[in-house]
Amino acid sequence: MTRPIVSGGTVVTIFTTDFYQQKCGDEKRILVAGGAGFLGGHLCETLLEDGHWVVCVDNFLTGRLCNVEKLFSHPRFTLVSHDIVDELPEIGAVDQIYNLACAASPPKYQENPLHTFKTNVYGAMNLLDLAERWGATILQSSTSEVYGDPDISPQPEGYHGNVNTVGPRSCYDEGKRAVETLFYEYHQQRGVSTRIARIFNTYGPRMSPSDGRVVSNFVVQALAGADVTVYGDGSQTRSFCYLSDMICGLMALMNATDAVCEPVNLGNPTEFTVLQLAETVIETLTSTSKLRFVELPQDDPKQRKPNITRANEVLGWAPRVTLAEGLAQTIPYFAMEAGLVPQASMA
Ligand code: NAD
Ligand code: UDP
Repeated sequence: MTRPIVSGGTVVTIFTTDFYQQKCGDEKRILVAGGAGFLGGHLCETLLEDGHWVVCVDNFLTGRLCNVEKLFSHPRFTLVSHDIVDELPEIGAVDQIYNLACAASPPKYQENPLHTFKTNVYGAMNLLDLAERWGATILQSSTSEVYGDPDISPQPEGYHGNVNTVGPRSCYDEGKRAVETLFYEYHQQRGVSTRIARIFNTYGPRMSPSDGRVVSNFVVQALAGADVTVYGDGSQTRSFCYLSDMICGLMALMNATDAVCEPVNLGNPTEFTVLQLAETVIETLTSTSKLRFVELPQDDPKQRKPNITRANEVLGWAPRVTLAEGLAQTIPYFAMEAGLVPQASMA
């Protein structure tokens, strides 16, 4: 049985304990915090396709209704408008919790740094308490930012990082680092089944065109024929993972054995300079855009490339989609979102 409640102006349904009686197979009850975001929307959809029941909890800070809109009529989908900094409403039993709640774009998470920090720490504690209460497995979407501006490349999980505790990125980086400690201790002291995914730059359809991250900025700018804004001289590197690879990696980690409670890097190890990305996007679109070099933001990491040996060994996971293939999927999406038609070569 479910009961309807009104939240954020939308009628949603909440599981009651009677729900147990409805379950007839191996399907799980899964909470996705941040489920209306870029990765969260795809994850909710994939979990529903796999037959599970999904409760999406989101405060719509960077998430968008359009990312989950088509799931509203799905009988196994529930949307709860809620800020995870605050105590969670009663949502009934859950078997798994994915914590994806936190703005991932630097300009977005820097708008209210204290709230970003609280989202990470208080939000994770609320979800960890829920996991403990129901005996659920909980996965944290950690980040390559825990390595800060790394002194070594590629970065293995054993590298402890080089992070500024007092800078514009600290609310995110240190917040995410603190959550890893919380996960570690909830596992050690309370026996909670935990997973930690260190996600490296991931892109694809459903990113917000105004998100401010590099792939969305460059594609939207190149589609419009506007200057492509390269921060610094563009020599800093990033390794870009396509969203379908990331969703597979996150689900493989969640469903791995409890032995995999240590952090696992998930990302595409093929490294590009930001300048190479800008040139690739312009060439792919045969755009008339010019490069515009602007000031590099403070503490912008100079290099980022995952060592994915652990993911390979414990999950059998490796990304499959190249940057060229991923951009070919992503560009038409941005063109539609921004109301800009890709140029002839893309048609
Ligand atoms: P996103 O900004 O699109 O999604 C984040 C979602 O969390 C949004 O729907 C937002 O509204 C929601 N949210 C934020 N604060 C919240 C709060 N206090 N309570 C409830 N909901 C809240 O970002 P994304 O790219 O989908 O990233 C998802 C997760 O993965 C984030 O935690 C991010 O830190 C992590 N991550 C992403 C990347 C990447 O490249 N995409 C890289 C590293 C880590
Ligand atoms: N960047 C850029 N132009 C933009 C947006 C970002 O050159 O319009 C650079 C940014 O300085 C960083 C890289 O691209 O070096 C990735 O930025 P993003 O915000 O996507 O994620 P980050 O990895 O920094 O969290």
